[in-house]
Amino acid sequence: MKILSVNAGSSSLKFQMYEMPEEKVLISGVFERIGLDNSLYTIKINGEKIKKEANLSNHKDAVRILIEELLNNKVIKSLDEIKGVGHRVVHGGDRYAKSTIIDEDVIKTIDELSSLAPLHNPANLMGILAFKEEVPDATSVAVFDTAFHQTMPKESYLYAVPYEWFTKYGVRRYGFHGISHDYLTQTLKNVLKNDKPNLITCHLGNGGSITAVKEGLCFDTSLGFSPNAGLVMGTRCGDIDSAIIPYIMNKTDKSLEDVMNDLSKKSGYLGISGISSDSRDIEDGIKNNNERCILAQNLFVRRAIEYIAKYYVELGHVDAICFAGGIGENSISTREEILDGLKCLGIKVDEKANDVRGEFTLITKKDSSVPCYVIPTDEEVMIARDTYHFIEG
Ligand code: ADP
Repeated sequence: MKILSVNAGSSSLKFQMYEMPEEKVLISGVFERIGLDNSLYTIKINGEKIKKEANLSNHKDAVRILIEELLNNKVIKSLDEIKGVGHRVVHGGDRYAKSTIIDEDVIKTIDELSSLAPLHNPANLMGILAFKEEVPDATSVAVFDTAFHQTMPKESYLYAVPYEWFTKYGVRRYGFHGISHDYLTQTLKNVLKNDKPNLITCHLGNGGSITAVKEGLCFDTSLGFSPNAGLVMGTRCGDIDSAIIPYIMNKTDKSLEDVMNDLSKKSGYLGISGISSDSRDIEDGIKNNNERCILAQNLFVRRAIEYIAKYYVELGHVDAICFAGGIGENSISTREEILDGLKCLGIKVDEKANDVRGEFTLITKKDSSVPCYVIPTDEEVMIARDTYHFIEG
């Protein structure tokens, strides 16, 4: 059965088509600069990467071209072979604890939830509507980035602010990257042969989050009301004292929008290093003894250690820790520094095993108190799996 996994942004649309249940990727690609000049798309098929220019005035144009490519490349013979289209949707609020088939009500709810995710939900909806129109017979499924975190207890998700902020306006921790944390949890359940493990899953990419999983369910997570909480990220500040915002507005005459922009686009690795948001540039800077790169890395590592330590205590017992995302999968030094900072808990990194990029690997010694793994995450396959399950029942 052929299933499409889709991630629509405001000017982009990423896709992968799977043969399910084998989880074989048949074709993948990305449409970029939708609605802008010089729009283009890239497709990957049979190990070959093809880049083409195209006139993409909206997401529907992208879907039409995608269908042409599927037909021309003989991935499908006719449109009715596409049985399901799974969409990544960033915010499901407290309405969705699981993926759901998209009907008119769901579309309305995703739209209503746009006030919580103004940059993401409207873009996700554009993708959903475009596929609904162009591939009307396929089952359309929404897979939410927040759903996995809906099992958190109130003590994890409430902020100590006036309670009406929560009841009237929905101010609470929602958490994000849930599709990835869910994938990591499922993978570790299989590896550990334990259906209800206690885990700490670290998704460290340009955006980053760490999740505590208790008996197989999300118990706590570092991203919050917005994706700018918790860890030090590429350009996002993570946790800060709220009083900094009016103070900087006063000192600089910047608007609230400008200060918020600084906190999400000019902070994190970029803000501290003054050089780059990319961990590879930070690593290069450290090799050249750049003090601000060293500082940026130390802040990044220290914050990650703080969260893992906090979750270790909250969970009481941890069956495994794992690292995923661009940094988690590829930055040997970052993993080593984080795990070194946890050695008082009896965690012992195996330097040889940790010398690995992007491969499933156990990176701790046999006598480590907690086994730690590198796990390449796969959000796309999670979307395809959920979509397939709705169709197969
Ligand atoms: P996003 O959150 O945008 O999906 P990614 O998961 O792709 O981000 O992660 C991007 C981060 O991963 C960047 O900081 C990048 O430097 C880092 N990264 C990717 N490859 C490597 C590598 N080989 N070594 C160190 N860091 C890497």
